[in-house]
Amino acid sequence: MHGHAAAFRGVAWRRRSAWWSAWLALGLDPGCGDAVPAVTDLVLSPATAVVIGTQPMIPIAPDVYVEPGTSTDDLVALRAAHTRAQGELDAWFPTTTDDRGLVLFCGTAACKIAFGAPPTAASSSDLGFATYVPSGGHEARRAVVVTGPAPNTDRILMHEWVHVHMGLHAQYELVPTWFNEGVATLLAGEPSCAHAPTPSADSLHDVATKDAWQEHIAVPGRTIRIYCQSRNEVRAWVGGDVSAATVAAAVVVVLDAVAAGAEFEAVYGPLRG
Ligand SMILES: [Zn+2]
Repeated sequence: MHGHAAAFRGVAWRRRSAWWSAWLALGLDPGCGDAVPAVTDLVLSPATAVVIGTQPMIPIAPDVYVEPGTSTDDLVALRAAHTRAQGELDAWFPTTTDDRGLVLFCGTAACKIAFGAPPTAASSSDLGFATYVPSGGHEARRAVVVTGPAPNTDRILMHEWVHVHMGLHAQYELVPTWFNEGVATLLAGEPSCAHAPTPSADSLHDVATKDAWQEHIAVPGRTIRIYCQSRNEVRAWVGGDVSAATVAAAVVVVLDAVAAGAEFEAVYGPLRG
């Protein structure tokens, strides 16, 4: 069901300081019946006008918005996915209290395009990416745009939120791209590496920058392989049978050291893969 999206999965390119990523599926529990609150606020952005004319996005939780026109059942499913992702993230990064930003759930390609997704990738059911949106005349706010509801909506959101949390400690560009993506993939389980794809890079040193990463995945068939190669490297680095929270804590140590001026390699050590 994700075949049409394969060429775009894991797309990573810059747009207004955003990073982008898109994925493959894992299972999702059916949502239980939360009430959906009334519209009390809205995110105004160029996107809203493009996607739905004058209609605002629908708020379903603080800082969480859904594309207008979404059915009540889908609103409930998205709220459940958000709650699940939030629970995981709170366990992984318990000491981070900074702004996680907005969550924008898009069901249609038009919604994703309106928030900046390229048309070629927008129809992917596993697309998630980060962006910034204007917010009521205030400073633009960070946001993650997540496809949903889809079977893996919660995990796409987790992957993007791992990037957000890592970014609170050190800017994305300060550590190798494979490290950013490997950590997000390992913690979120998204994309899934259950089928153990073979590595696609001779060395992860070859995909240390965003440009190099993008160039690498421009070759068909490499995307899931490089995400899982990166994920497996981080998993090997962590070693043992440790919890996601332990992984997150180890990652934060690296990020904080790099943000304080240390060389990544000096903190991380040699590649294990
Ligand atoms: Zn990513």
